[in-house]
Amino acid sequence: MGRVLIIGAGGVGTVVAFKCAEVNEVFTDIMLASRTKAKCDKIAADVAAKYPDRPKIQTAKVDADNVPELVELIRSFKPAMVINVALPYQDLTIMDACLETGVHYLDTANYEPKDVAKFEYKWQWAYKEKFEKAGLMALLGCGFDPGQTQIYTAHAAKHHFDEIHYLDIVDCNGGDHGKAFATNFNPEINIREITSKGKYWENGEWHEIDAMSIHQPITYHNIGERESYLLYHEELESLVKNFPSIKRARFWMTFGQEYLTHLRVMQNIGITSIKPVKFQGQEIVPLEFLKAILPEPGSLGENYVGETSIGCYIKGIKDGKDKTYFIWNNCKHQDAYDDTLSQGVSYTTGVPAMLGAKLMMQGIWKKAGVYNVEEMNPDPFMAEVGMYGLPWNEIENVEVPFSDY
Ligand code: NDP
Repeated sequence: MGRVLIIGAGGVGTVVAFKCAEVNEVFTDIMLASRTKAKCDKIAADVAAKYPDRPKIQTAKVDADNVPELVELIRSFKPAMVINVALPYQDLTIMDACLETGVHYLDTANYEPKDVAKFEYKWQWAYKEKFEKAGLMALLGCGFDPGQTQIYTAHAAKHHFDEIHYLDIVDCNGGDHGKAFATNFNPEINIREITSKGKYWENGEWHEIDAMSIHQPITYHNIGERESYLLYHEELESLVKNFPSIKRARFWMTFGQEYLTHLRVMQNIGITSIKPVKFQGQEIVPLEFLKAILPEPGSLGENYVGETSIGCYIKGIKDGKDKTYFIWNNCKHQDAYDDTLSQGVSYTTGVPAMLGAKLMMQGIWKKAGVYNVEEMNPDPFMAEVGMYGLPWNEIENVEVPFSDY
């Protein structure tokens, strides 16, 4: 059906490459490009070993901060769309290159300026008119969270509620990678996210809290009880905009004590800072240095045991009555590894990215402009996502783990 360019050869890029190759009736020709070409070559070889009869993934080196370089690559490969699984810093340059070359765009994380640890959709939403005028589509945040959690919310809104009032997204990684400290996705982005202030939506406004200052135990399917911390997560911004009946929206994530202790020490000694310091006559950003010495997310898969469990608790009104609802997925790290040589966090991000791109390539999700995933019809995604490795479950009238519903 068409050619796809994947940018970023990390943990998520690996999964996207495997899954696009699996669906080769849609992604007939695949190119994987990233800053380090050797990583693309390794992934292409691994995919070729799994799918020896399919066209080999082409690879290229690209600096995705550089628009002319991206434009040249896109013009030479001529993809129908770009799947951006590099870092959030590259979102705008890749969107600019897509506009210049007339190709569609999809990503899994919203733009962040490098020098401010802040994520907001305003920069990418500002491209709406440009994409509309060009007749192109940009689909934002099509991973798991952001991504599948918003599609779950759209599914609930369409099939289970007349109005949604309360939404709690709960994200548990109940796995163990056997390392003293590692992050499951890009360490720089991950640490910036969790050391920022927490924030939730209630009664028409944002409430800011100190990082990790609100927490409670939540019981996760097949995992058990885990302490869960209220964080700000980017999908809350688009969800409260697209579902204005929401009175309160929060996001919770689990962290083990060992992880939090390491993080506290690293914060105390200043190595999570994004302020440049002079070191041996050179300017370095402490967090970038830390990233360089931590394990890469893509390297954690082999010995990872346990599973992730991510879902949405929702309360609202159906036929004039109060109703509660829970929808979730559990993903075993080992199943992810068997399928794509990757751990579960990369897998739960890469599968929705591939499926979102597939629906765009097939013209099933097709609208000129810039969209968040909950603005799409959830049905075709929900019908297929289980088949590609992330089956979902739902319970109506569930007992919610929060005392304030
Ligand atoms: P990794 O750090 O494993 O991979 C990032 C890749 O991007 C690396 O291959 C890196 O190259 C490449 N890259 C970085 N800068 C550039 C550049 N300027 N030009 C070209 N390539 C570049 O991260 P992950 O795979 O874990 O995460 C990828 C994305 O997915 C991130 O944006 C992350 O926030 C997002 N994500 C989304 C989730 C969701 O549920 N929505 C969950 C998890 C992640 P090099 O190898 O040379 O460093």
